[in-house]
Amino acid sequence: MPGLDDLYREIILDHYRTPRNRGSLDTPPAVRVEGHNPLCGDEIEVYLLVDGDQVADIKIGGQGCSISQSSASMMTQAVKGKTIPEAVAVVKQFKAMMSLHEHEMGGDGSEAEAEPEPVDLTKLGDLAALQGVVKFPVRIKCATLSWNTFLQALEESKESPAS
Ligand code: ZN
Repeated sequence: MPGLDDLYREIILDHYRTPRNRGSLDTPPAVRVEGHNPLCGDEIEVYLLVDGDQVADIKIGGQGCSISQSSASMMTQAVKGKTIPEAVAVVKQFKAMMSLHEHEMGGDGSEAEAEPEPVDLTKLGDLAALQGVVKFPVRIKCATLSWNTFLQALEESKESPAS
């Protein structure tokens, strides 16, 4: 990914080469949700185990580009062990960071006029590395794929609570 800050590129490659929480969980009690990004060919499987109000465990399967896979790895770290409201808050924060330029997709690439909501990158840790991706609008869907799939998995967990 030319154009990305060196440090950020290192963080992304580290998660790509050594993905965290990769594998699968037994379903049930976990739920399994697939996400696809046809623009790039990324496929993500999210295995989610919710216990009460907590993200008890999460595993990632599937394959795709370095952005989609490293983002999935970071996502599991960001939400695992958190309460559901906390996890949803992190997802919202991440998506806010990634959506700054999302409306430009398919546009002429001109700068947005509205000033985006400030996102506190220091609170996002490694996730901040993905901010450089907003410079490549076509890759934003790669970065947000696993997060949207996680939200879907949360919904499914509500519908079929593990007992
Ligand atoms: Zn991709």
